[in-house]
Amino acid sequence: MSHNDSIINLLNLKDKNIIFDENFYSEGIVKGVKSKFFHGTLTYRPRACYSCGHVLDDKIIKHGFKTSTIKIPHISGFNAYLKLRKQRYFCKHCNSTFTLKTNIVDRHCFISNNTKLAIALNAKEKISEKDIARNHNVSHSTVNRVIDSFYDLYKPNFNYLPKHLCFDEFKSVKSAAGAMSFIFCDSETGRIVDIVEDRRLHVLKDYFLQYSKAARYSVKTIVIDMYSPYLSLIKDIFPKAKIIIDKFHIIQLFSRALNKTRVEVMNRDKKNYNKLKKYWKLLLKDNTRVDHINYRYHRSFRNQMREIDIINYLLDLDPKLKASYKLYHYVRFCIKNKEFDLLKTALDDNFNIVSDYMKTSIKTIRKYIDYVSNALKYDYNNGVLEGINNKIKVIKRIAFGFRCFYHFRNRILITQSLAKLKTA
Ligand SMILES: [Zn+2]
Repeated sequence: MSHNDSIINLLNLKDKNIIFDENFYSEGIVKGVKSKFFHGTLTYRPRACYSCGHVLDDKIIKHGFKTSTIKIPHISGFNAYLKLRKQRYFCKHCNSTFTLKTNIVDRHCFISNNTKLAIALNAKEKISEKDIARNHNVSHSTVNRVIDSFYDLYKPNFNYLPKHLCFDEFKSVKSAAGAMSFIFCDSETGRIVDIVEDRRLHVLKDYFLQYSKAARYSVKTIVIDMYSPYLSLIKDIFPKAKIIIDKFHIIQLFSRALNKTRVEVMNRDKKNYNKLKKYWKLLLKDNTRVDHINYRYHRSFRNQMREIDIINYLLDLDPKLKASYKLYHYVRFCIKNKEFDLLKTALDDNFNIVSDYMKTSIKTIRKYIDYVSNALKYDYNNGVLEGINNKIKVIKRIAFGFRCFYHFRNRILITQSLAKLKTA
């Protein structure tokens, strides 16, 4: 392999018309960053004049060089540039000059095509655009431009919907029309179907009406949280779908109420303030996993205690806290074991003895009781739903630095492999 071919392969530049100089390498600073420079010359005999198209003859003559600095992918972690001297020609037929073209970079562009590809591939990873821009030492707007040009805009298939859906929402970019954006997934596979900027009812209605009637009527179940506009949306748009309240949200409703109850007691009982504050997690801990065996020294009690001793101490401080604790764990038990009748009875029987916060939760659950019953009837793999929640967390992390929903949505779909690289 010749010296020249070696450099071309090293830099992964697919243009054999580039000849590297004897001293092809130098170093320098670009925008405050130490960078590597490669020096080469682009020269070949063009077939014809670029302006008038006249076939090359002795009236089309060499006419100096034009040097451009082209950003190429990093080398061993360093910024790298190709200083390319491009041969110019003068055409006596039309009295104009032209510069030779190369396929490694688009015209009027100073970022090599393989750098753009590297940026586009980087966009599939779970990192923010700011970090992509930093990785390649280009501007944020270049990153957006490259992503937009490399990926086909994702459009869902409006003639198809998965049979089992899961609705969720997340805090969106600042410019989004509603404060919350809407995301929905296939609840069997966890695959995202689409993301809608605004979760408000009229927007979602218009959005879903784009889907064919056959697609909408084929949806059998939809998992939602307790956001009441979803109910009327589903009844209108997905008349055949059974509504399921997400189990995680049911438990969360009660765990929050229990927590508020604890805080209320804490603020009232100055003597036990620190204990109620410190051991909040123990009250929420799965009661089948509470330690009944091992004693450990706890400074706030100045004593050796088991976890169960601490829990009992705290619950004895207030009868409503105790009743709320018991109900919370019973709700968890019923949901885990799909005991709907037991759940319903427990909510009724305990209503008068629990805290006001717990009463509010019970009232909420009663409002949605049919859909809670569906939650225990239809078994949706919690792993998938959990996976979706984790995805949304990742999305929020990626969202760092996004101002525009359009780019934000595109990035989410790219990381989820829904928007595909354009095939050149
Ligand atoms: Zn010409």
